[in-house]
Amino acid sequence: MAASGEGKGPAAPRFNVRKVAVLGAGVMGAQIAAHLVNVKVPVVLFDLPAKEGPKNGIVTKAVEGLKKLKPSPLGVPEDAALIQPANYEEHLGLLADCDLVIEAIAERMDWKLDLYKKIAPHVASHAIVASNTSGLSITKLSEALPEAMKPRFCGIHFFNPPRYMYLVELIATPTTKPQILDDLETFVTSGLGKGVVRAKDTPNFIANRVGIAGMLGTMREVEKFGLTFDVVDDLTGKKLGRASSGTFRTADVVGLDTMAHVIKTLQDTLSPETDPFYGSFGTPEVLKTLLEQGNLGQKTRAGFYKKVGRDILRFDLARKDYVPGGEKADEVYGRMLKKPAGERLKLLRNATGAQGQFLWAILRNSFHYAAVHLATIAETARDVDQAMRWGFGMKQGPFELWQEAGWLQVAQWIQEDIAAGKTLSDAPLPEWVFKGPVAEAGGVHTAEGSFNPTTGKFEPRRVLPVYRRQLFPELLRGEAGPRFETAGTTVHEDRNLRIWTLDQEVLIVSLKTKMHTISPEVCEGLQQAIEIAEKDYQGLVVWSGDEPFSAGADLESTLPAFIAVGVTAIEDAEGFMQQTMLRLRYASVPVVSAIRGLALGGGCELGLYSAKRVAAMESYIGLVEVGVGLVPGAGGLTYIARRAAENAATSTDKDLLKFLTEGFTAAAMAKVGTSALESRKLGYLLDSDIVVPNKDELLYVALQQAKSLYDSGYRPPHKRMFPVAGRSAKATIQGQLVNLRDGGFASQHDFHIASLIANVVTGGDVDAGTLVTEEYLMTLERRAFCELVQHPKTQERILGMLSTGKPVRN
Ligand code: NAD
Repeated sequence: MAASGEGKGPAAPRFNVRKVAVLGAGVMGAQIAAHLVNVKVPVVLFDLPAKEGPKNGIVTKAVEGLKKLKPSPLGVPEDAALIQPANYEEHLGLLADCDLVIEAIAERMDWKLDLYKKIAPHVASHAIVASNTSGLSITKLSEALPEAMKPRFCGIHFFNPPRYMYLVELIATPTTKPQILDDLETFVTSGLGKGVVRAKDTPNFIANRVGIAGMLGTMREVEKFGLTFDVVDDLTGKKLGRASSGTFRTADVVGLDTMAHVIKTLQDTLSPETDPFYGSFGTPEVLKTLLEQGNLGQKTRAGFYKKVGRDILRFDLARKDYVPGGEKADEVYGRMLKKPAGERLKLLRNATGAQGQFLWAILRNSFHYAAVHLATIAETARDVDQAMRWGFGMKQGPFELWQEAGWLQVAQWIQEDIAAGKTLSDAPLPEWVFKGPVAEAGGVHTAEGSFNPTTGKFEPRRVLPVYRRQLFPELLRGEAGPRFETAGTTVHEDRNLRIWTLDQEVLIVSLKTKMHTISPEVCEGLQQAIEIAEKDYQGLVVWSGDEPFSAGADLESTLPAFIAVGVTAIEDAEGFMQQTMLRLRYASVPVVSAIRGLALGGGCELGLYSAKRVAAMESYIGLVEVGVGLVPGAGGLTYIARRAAENAATSTDKDLLKFLTEGFTAAAMAKVGTSALESRKLGYLLDSDIVVPNKDELLYVALQQAKSLYDSGYRPPHKRMFPVAGRSAKATIQGQLVNLRDGGFASQHDFHIASLIANVVTGGDVDAGTLVTEEYLMTLERRAFCELVQHPKTQERILGMLSTGKPVRN
C-alpha cells in the first residue's frame, strides 16, 4: 500500500542509514549494492570466502561483472570501485557499522538460517535486517533468529533489475516492530527511489504470485486456443497496456530457468487447498522441452525465440524446432484494444475469433485470480494494482481495469464463465464482489480509499512523512488525489504549456507539447513565465508531470515556415530559442529545471541555461543534434565553450583545448548520459546540481531549491566575456577529424558537421585567448545550423528521423 504524507514536520527521513551491508554477491545482491552506490549510500558487499586465491574473490568477480551487465546496474561503471568487498571469514566485524543488512543469498532456508546465526553477534543492536527472498516464508526465517533481532527483521523484495524496477515489497512478520517497517519504507522510497508495497507473508508475495500465475494461465490459454508465440506477444504487449516484450519474449529476457524456479516455488509452497488455481500451475510442456534442450532464453540465445542472422525464429513444439516467426495479430483486435474499457471487454468476450477469445480469457483469469486471492495476499486492492504496475510493467492493475470496464457487469461475465467451466478454477468470486460497499461504489478504488476485504472498508493510503515529498503521487484509476494537470492556481495556460503555482511563492511552468518538444510558441511561453516570476514570485521551476523532460526542439513546427520562406525562417526560430535560453540564464529570479527521462537537444539546453538542475536518477541528457545532421543550435555549443573557459580559469593549466575536448566529443558524437550520474560526467549536470533517487520527489526538491536560492539572495551571473581556444585549437581538432574520416570511422557528412562544431566551440577564426560574448558564439552556432539545414544529407537525416524515428547514416 502506498501512502500519503498528511501532517506537519520535516518530510526528511528520520532513519539515518549511514552504511548498508548486502549479504550475497549473486545476481540480486551485487545489483542491489550497485544501486546503493548510485544513490550515494556506502555499501559493503559480502559473500562466502573463495576456496582458492584471495578470500574476497567471489565478491570482486561479481563487482567486475557489474561493469559489463546490460542494462547497466551502475550509474557510471567506475563507481563499482565504491562497493567495499568482504567475506564472512575475515570481515564480520564490518557489520557493526551498518544500519541496514540486506540478505540476498541463494534461496535455501537452511543456508539463510546458518548465515543469520553467523552474523547475529556482529550486527549493530539497532540495525534492520531484511531478506530479499522471493519465495521463502519471512516468518519462518524469523523464528530461528535471536529474540533481540526479531523485532528488527522483515522481508525486502526487490525485482530484477533492481536499479530499474520501481517495485519493492516489504513484508512484516508477527514480531516485526511497526516502526521498523515505517523506517525502512521511508528509506526505500526516498533514499532508493522505489515504490513500496507492503505484502502479506504468503508464497511469492503479491507481484510474483499474481504475475506468474497470470503467465502460467496465459500459457494454458495459448495451448487451448492454438496460438503462436509471436501472435500472442503482439497481442499481450503494448496493445494490452503491458510490457512491450509481451508474454514470451519477456520470459526469454528473464531466463527460462529463473521462470522455472519461480514456478517451482508456486508448485512447492502452494496446494489445491491453499490455491484453487493450483491445477493450472503445472510446468507447460513447451517450457519443459526448451529447458531440456538447454534453451534458457536470451542468455543462451535461444528460448521461445531464436535470432538467426536478421531473422527471428519461433519455437514450434510439435516439431521441437524453430520455424520462421514474425507473425502479427489480426488487426481487428488492435482496434478493439483501443476502445474504452467497457466496450473493449464486451467486444473481446463476444469475439468469435480465437485471438479475441484468448484476450478475454486472460483478462478474465487475471480478475478472477486477483479477486479470489486479495484477502490472503494483500491488505487492500491498491497493493495488488500497484504491485502489478510497478513489478510487471502494466499500465493498469487487474482491479483498475475491471472497475473501469464496469464492475458488476464484468463480475457477472466472470461468474457466467465459471459456471460454464471456462475458467482456470471453479472457485467462486468472493461475496464482497457482489454485495456491500464494493458493489455499491462500483469498484474497489474510491475517493475514500481502496477496499480491504478483511475489514470490509475502503482504506486511505498509509500516512508517512516521506510521502509529503511526493506532491503528485501516481494515482490508480478510481483513486482521488491531486492531479498535476489541474492542481494549484493557473496563471496562464494554452495548448503548449501551463504556468501555475502551488504555493504562491514559486512559479511552475509545465510543457504540454508532444514529448514536451520546444517550439517557438513554447519559447514565448517560457519567456512569459520568466517575466511573471520576476515580478511576483521567488523563482521559476520547469517541471512537467509526465516524462520526458523534453525531447528537444520541435523540428516539424518550423518545417512549413522553412518551405514557405526559406532558411531565414529557421534562423529566426533559432535566434528566438537562443534568446530564450539567455533570458533564462539572466533572469533575476532563479530558474530551476526538474529533469527526468529524456532531456535531448533543446531540452538539454533548457536545463543548461537554468540556474540549477534537479535531476531524477533516471535522466538521460545529451546534445543529439548530430543524429539528424545538425549542430546544437540553442546555446549548447556556446555553453561548451563557456564551461571550458570557466574550468580553465580555476586551473593552473590554461590550455583551453584540454578543457574543450570532453564537451566537443560529447556533442560531436551525440552522446547521451545513461543516468543522471553519467550525464554529469558529460558536463550536462554540475556537481552542485542535485540527483534525486525518486522521480516523484522531483517537484518537491526543485521548489525547495528555488526558494532556498531566493532566500540566499540569488542574483543571476555576471554577463562577462570569456576566452576561446581560437584557430590553432580548431586546426588541431580538425586534424584528428581528418584521421577519423580517412580511417573510415566517420562519413564525409559527419566530418563536415564535426568541423562546424569545432569552429563554434573554439570561437572560429580568432587568436587563442580572444575574449568573446555568448551572443558572438551563438551567431556562429546559428550560422552552422542554417548551413546544415540546407544540406541535402542533413535533410535526408531529418526526413528519415521524422518518418521512421531511426537515425539515418549517410
Ligand atoms: P544467485 O544464485 O545469483 O546468488 C546467490 C549468492 O549466494 C551467491 O553469490 C552465492 O555465493 C551465495 N551463497 C550460496 N550459498 C551460500 C551460503 N550457504 N551462505 C552464504 N552465501 C551463499 O541468487 P540470486 O538470484 O541473486 O538470488 C538471491 C536471493 O534473492 C534469493 O533469495 C532469491 O530468491 C532472491 N531474488 C532473486 C531474484 C532474481 O530475479 N534472481 C529476484 C528477487 C529476489
